[in-house]
Amino acid sequence: MGDEDWGLNTLAVHAGQVRTAEQENSEALFLSSSFVFKNAAEAAARFAGDAPGNIYSRFTNPTVRMFEDRLAALEGGERCLATSSGMSAILSLCMGVLRQGDHIVSSRSIFGTTVNLFNKVLGRFGVTTTFVAQSDYAQWEAAIGPATRLLFVETPSNPLMEIADIRRLAEIAHRRGCLLVVDNCFCTPMLQRPLALGADIVIHSATKYLDGQGRCIGGAIVGPAALLNEELFSFLRTAGPSMSPFNAWVFLKGLETLHLRMQAHSDNAGQLAHWLQGRPGIRRVYYPGLADHPQHALARSQQSGFGGIVSFEMEGGRVAAWKLIDATRVFAITANLGDAKSTITHPATTTHHRLTDAQRAEAGINDGLIRLSVGLENVEDLCRDLQSAMAGLAK
Ligand SMILES: *Cc1c(COP(=O)(O)O)cnc(C)c1O
Repeated sequence: MGDEDWGLNTLAVHAGQVRTAEQENSEALFLSSSFVFKNAAEAAARFAGDAPGNIYSRFTNPTVRMFEDRLAALEGGERCLATSSGMSAILSLCMGVLRQGDHIVSSRSIFGTTVNLFNKVLGRFGVTTTFVAQSDYAQWEAAIGPATRLLFVETPSNPLMEIADIRRLAEIAHRRGCLLVVDNCFCTPMLQRPLALGADIVIHSATKYLDGQGRCIGGAIVGPAALLNEELFSFLRTAGPSMSPFNAWVFLKGLETLHLRMQAHSDNAGQLAHWLQGRPGIRRVYYPGLADHPQHALARSQQSGFGGIVSFEMEGGRVAAWKLIDATRVFAITANLGDAKSTITHPATTTHHRLTDAQRAEAGINDGLIRLSVGLENVEDLCRDLQSAMAGLAK
């Protein structure tokens, strides 16, 4: 039986592992900046690219390679390149495939720092971006021009959990000669495999669920070998946003339990979303697993679970939202998500504070909105924590 016959859970535990002569059962951690050549001729052959093998950990490292091969297997991609962060994965992708004058069409509902990367960084080098509504496909079509190379989307979106139809965007992208890039951070390959739905490239912030315990920063690009081995690898080895081997080792261990954790995050989030619905003082709950979510059917058709992020809108705006956030004891007020520990965020004044009032209103992020990253605690304790915080509001 080869890797290609294995199910996702088996791949998560075994794919990519290469044992050393010590026959270790857990993956080895290679904390070595460089690798030694037998002789000058071997060094020359490796530098020339005529012989395979490691040279220097900015280019390749065996622990990082194991992480890359495991994530590639899980996403069903030919090749994966690991990077120092999720943002450097997106930057490296753009630097590898785009030229001055090229154009990106992106959903408006993406991670705020990615918006800044497109506008403020790439914009200085003559790459322009048009932002469109996440699921208005006529807008996507209309925004594509002769210079468009990439369509970029994150689904479900943050924080409103809006779903984009990956199959439909892939069809649009390919008909117009573009690549579809999906940031698969919220679902991970355990709940959604964008490449199988037609996407060309998957981006990860490994910092989130792939680690799953809030320890390390890292990222990854998964996609066709030809593109990743040439343009993207060449950018990475030259510019240097490579993943640390220590972080790769932590992420490898994270991948081994990813299927269990995503299931448990989804179960807890689903129960919490149902519990929040219809409670006094709550206007609306955003979770794709709820039957009244506008794209519930689409989420079902492309995801095998609904994930761990739940948002809800409170009556009483920012004052009520801050009071509730401050009164919780189990939820941590912190920027990370996808952690075993539940976290709570006020998007309007943190992750989305850079937007103007008009942009926030257009994005549907009002002052009463709260985002939860539901962790692995007992869901009863999470409900009790929110309940007592809400009770405090009435006083
Ligand atoms: C966090 C995040 C990123 C950026 O990842 P870093 O590892 O923090 O650089 C990109 N996309 C999404 C959806 C994220 O949540």
